[in-house]
Amino acid sequence: MTNLLLFADKDSAQTVDIPDLLRPLLAIVLARVSPTGSLLDFNRGFARLLGEEKAVAGNNMTDYFINPGLADFIDHEQHTPYGMVFEGILTLGDPQSQCQSLNGAIWRDAAGLLLVAEYDVEHMELLASSVLELNNQLADLQRALTRQNVELKRSYDKIHMLSLTDTLTEIGNRRAFNERLRTELERSARSAVAFGLIMADIDHFKNVNDSFGHDVGDIVLQTTVSCLSQCIRPYDFIARIGGEEFIVILPETDRSTTLNIAERLRVTIAGHVMPSIARPVTISLGVTLWQTGDTAQSIFHRADRAVYAAKDAGRNCTSEA
Ligand code: GH3
Ligand code: MG
Ligand code: MG
Repeated sequence: MTNLLLFADKDSAQTVDIPDLLRPLLAIVLARVSPTGSLLDFNRGFARLLGEEKAVAGNNMTDYFINPGLADFIDHEQHTPYGMVFEGILTLGDPQSQCQSLNGAIWRDAAGLLLVAEYDVEHMELLASSVLELNNQLADLQRALTRQNVELKRSYDKIHMLSLTDTLTEIGNRRAFNERLRTELERSARSAVAFGLIMADIDHFKNVNDSFGHDVGDIVLQTTVSCLSQCIRPYDFIARIGGEEFIVILPETDRSTTLNIAERLRVTIAGHVMPSIARPVTISLGVTLWQTGDTAQSIFHRADRAVYAAKDAGRNCTSEA
């Protein structure tokens, strides 16, 4: 910065005008102030720093030279020798709005004081590298956040999946059935293509528990599910909707296929010797087909009624409603 002062002779009383070359510059701040502190001349950098309405020739600058203050340099007795009276970091600007730290010097000559300052480039570089560092930290945080969001989504999906799963048999539960039934009702309402619904209830299951214990009953329930699951197609849906009650949804399936699959379920269960009880169990089945205007309640109620009818008909058989 002191090189800029080539135009000011260090020890002479000679005053130097602000060079035209430096007038339009914004990063360099130049101002001439009278011995009593009023603004005589300035460049664009100074006007920008102070604001157009304050950087007006004749205005008193005492309030805007914050550190060092102008009072330190105003020498009414004119005893101070000419030359540089300050060099270093200056705080300039309006304390009510914005101040800046600049690197520069104040010179005294016959006309008063000359301020020559520039924005502290090293400080700005430091700021820029801090910003860069903060940006990197932000990017790291964003990556961590993205990872956590993915984990959160995974946890949510797992919780959702668990909320739809029957823990004993690992097939869908009543809630999963309700969701799937709603989907199929909407699909059939749109396409007018029916789906089949089969409800199955193990016969005299209470006897299994009573004779062999609850744990054996659980194994029978699990084995029943694996037998039923093997009889249905990959796109069919099975759920456990009660203690020993199961339901199968057969999307886009007609009556005869639904009845065939129900029969396959019945025969498979009746022919499978259950481990631990050394005999098969039987199931009673209720079959119904989607009808125009069906709701979840209406179709479920029909299937339920059909199961009761199968029980009444002697069990180990299928009824239709
Ligand atoms: P029905 O032929 O009329 O269907 O007779 P049921 O004995 O199968 O029917 P009931 O409703 O009288 O008994 C069902 C039994 O299922 C009673 C209950 O203890 C048993 N149960 C319900 N949930 C479970 C379970 O998770 N594990 C075991 N082991 N038993 C269960
Ligand atoms: Mg039952
Ligand atoms: Mg039963």
